[in-house]
Amino acid sequence: MSIRIRYLSSTIFNYMYLNKSAFRWITMGLLGFFGFISCNNTPKENVLFKKDLKDDSAKKAYLIKIGNAPKPTEQPFVADSNKLYVYLTFDDGPQPGSVTCFNICKAEGIKATFFMVALHQQRKRDGKQIVGMIRNGYPQFLLANHSYDHTMEHYQYFYQHPDMAFDNFVRAQDTLQVPKKFIRLPGNGGWVLQNQVRTSHLVSAVAHRLDSAGFTVIGWDLEWNFNHKNARPVQSPEKLAAQVDSAFSKHNEHIRKNIVILTHDRMFQHAEDSSSLVKFIQILKQNPKYVFETVDHYPGAKK
Ligand SMILES: [Zn+2]
Repeated sequence: MSIRIRYLSSTIFNYMYLNKSAFRWITMGLLGFFGFISCNNTPKENVLFKKDLKDDSAKKAYLIKIGNAPKPTEQPFVADSNKLYVYLTFDDGPQPGSVTCFNICKAEGIKATFFMVALHQQRKRDGKQIVGMIRNGYPQFLLANHSYDHTMEHYQYFYQHPDMAFDNFVRAQDTLQVPKKFIRLPGNGGWVLQNQVRTSHLVSAVAHRLDSAGFTVIGWDLEWNFNHKNARPVQSPEKLAAQVDSAFSKHNEHIRKNIVILTHDRMFQHAEDSSSLVKFIQILKQNPKYVFETVDHYPGAKK
């Protein structure tokens, strides 16, 4: 009974949308009536214009639009010109270390962004749970898109096929259910902001496609380097904090008064290294000018 009513409601809704006529209000009334007697709140995405999705790109755009719907609790952000903004970003999760990074930021009461890889979610037993934890942690945490498969480490080939690369990001957006359209390119520090596409030649084509589709692409100003054999951090927390101070004072930021720091979840999977992350955060917190933010509040980020 309920399924039939929902089907009928959906059909009426589609008819109404496709035939913008005076029948709109009549069919709306019927839809409301059937919706009421079915006592079943059909999820909004199930009745939205299915017949309009003529091809895959329309479907993708539609899925992204739903995923990008603003949450009601979100407060408007206004930057304070007296502050210096630090965007701590963790790449490549969910991986060993992701939960540790989350817990440390939570305990320290700071904001952070996690650029995650859809394939890592699929491969990790608790991957979905970790991604969900980040997604639900907004506004303290922002879940963002770091591609479906991290190019399978074939960066050159990936970026030389911009349509394929674009689809890879869209697939990640859907798989991870990323709520906002923020991307970090795997292995590349390109930027796409409002009225600005600044990238290397290699990634320029996909960056322009992402720009047209309303994505913001976030590069970085400073990297917390790691040893590629054991994933352990290279700089001490004191050294990295000094690099932050120096970048601000020498105006080495991509945009003044804002520094994006690139780190990786896996660098902090062991206790001796996670304590470095705690230390780094605590050093920066001593400076009252520093504010930790998520990248959706970076200047020029698309809404
Ligand atoms: Zn990466």
